[in-house]
Amino acid sequence: MALLEVKNLKKSFAKTEVLKGIDLKVNRGDVVSILGPSGSGKTTLLRCINFLEKPDGGKLSFDGEDYDLSGISKSDIAAIRKKTGFVFQGYNLFANKNVLENVTLGLTSARKIPKNEADEKALEVLKKVGMDGYTDYYPSQLSGGQQQRVAIARALATDPSIIYFDEPTSALDPQLTSEVLEVMRELADEGMTMIVVTHEMGFAKEVSSHVVFMADGNVVEEGSSADFFDNPKEVRTREFLRLTE
Ligand code: ADP
Repeated sequence: MALLEVKNLKKSFAKTEVLKGIDLKVNRGDVVSILGPSGSGKTTLLRCINFLEKPDGGKLSFDGEDYDLSGISKSDIAAIRKKTGFVFQGYNLFANKNVLENVTLGLTSARKIPKNEADEKALEVLKKVGMDGYTDYYPSQLSGGQQQRVAIARALATDPSIIYFDEPTSALDPQLTSEVLEVMRELADEGMTMIVVTHEMGFAKEVSSHVVFMADGNVVEEGSSADFFDNPKEVRTREFLRLTE
């Protein structure tokens, strides 16, 4: 059974239809890369399935429960969010909190987990991303790659069923990009379910199990990563792959 299935997701901003009826299915353990030209609706799709934008319509199944996206209740949104993690393009760490506090805050405040337990969990996930030696650093004292690794630790701390990544390396230079992609590759190897909006073709090809290619608010082509890269069917896909070579 799919962990997450989206059907006919629609979203407009004013009169512009940005998502024109998206279908997406993600099984447990899948790493799905969402590719496509700038402006095709990739970020909006991620933001809609995590309710950072309000979808206009569509259905969502998540972890065995069915929801109507246009009329979903606040309590259902909270229940889904409890099982999801989100890593943004900009790291979105709190500038006035140190690394440890950035990771524990979501545990102690939203989930009421005792501080000592939260600290223990934070150390465990910071270790996973290679940042356990930086607990008392502030974000401004870290490189972009280190900040993004802390953001990944923060997402991991709540033991999510799935993590959404929105262009996690687009603000980083190549060396810092590779340290973040390495952490994501390790998570994938451990079976973490992930949806990744990315321009990193190497990552999409080598790490993801599935690729979804979007253009103009539609899914143009999708398939296993091997099929997608070795045998693209649609003209638009071939053109896109040629341009990103
Ligand atoms: P991508 O992630 O593929 O680059 P986006 O989802 O960011 O695409 O954007 C898709 C389209 O939706 C773009 O034309 C963008 O300008 C528009 N858009 C995104 N967010 C908003 C918003 N909050 N208000 C108005 N238009 C938006």
